[in-house]
Amino acid sequence: MAEKTENEMAADAELKTLRERIKACEFLLIGLGSEWEKAGGAEVQEAYRALAAMTEGKDYFIVTTAKDARIFESSLDEAKITAPCGNVNWLQCSKGCTKDIWERGEVADGICPHCGAPLTENTVLANPYIEEGYLKSWNLYREWLAGTLNHALLILELGVDFKTPTVIRWPFEKTVFFNRKSHMYRINQKFYQIVGDIQERTVSIPQNSVGFIRNFSSCD
Ligand SMILES: [Zn+2]
Repeated sequence: MAEKTENEMAADAELKTLRERIKACEFLLIGLGSEWEKAGGAEVQEAYRALAAMTEGKDYFIVTTAKDARIFESSLDEAKITAPCGNVNWLQCSKGCTKDIWERGEVADGICPHCGAPLTENTVLANPYIEEGYLKSWNLYREWLAGTLNHALLILELGVDFKTPTVIRWPFEKTVFFNRKSHMYRINQKFYQIVGDIQERTVSIPQNSVGFIRNFSSCD
């Protein structure tokens, strides 16, 4: 077997540190971006399974901009997930006449019982977008996050781009900046760059985050 290159050894050391930080952290915050929405079905399923293994026994919260709701098919705890860009399994009135949200199949003919307009998926693509679908979980997340200040918080920002930076990317950077006991891993094939004052507590890994997480448990 070929000897490991310096780069490979550095990558191994980084993984070891990440494992130790996952073990040691009091709180684990995970942000999932577009890489997770783009990933193929089997791959993303395996990656969610790896995330579930990683978060087992941890006090965690997940913010995702994915609208595909595939995360809810995994064993990750639904009560610890917020999806502010919406969820294709939830429906709203396409005219926005009511803040009511329905699950798929709950309204048999797919027609808004209040105004007769067709129902549409409750995501940011709806116009108007009824935000009541995610606000309850979002408020739980905000409360949870407030409780992590001055605690050992580990942040995994996975595959987040610049389409909706106010949801994950910028607030996560702000959180790392203010919590001096925190560490962040930015794992992203394209947008892995880190700028500004948070570099000493932030590690950048230029890899596709779905593949990275999927392989994470198998490379001890
Ligand atoms: Zn309606």
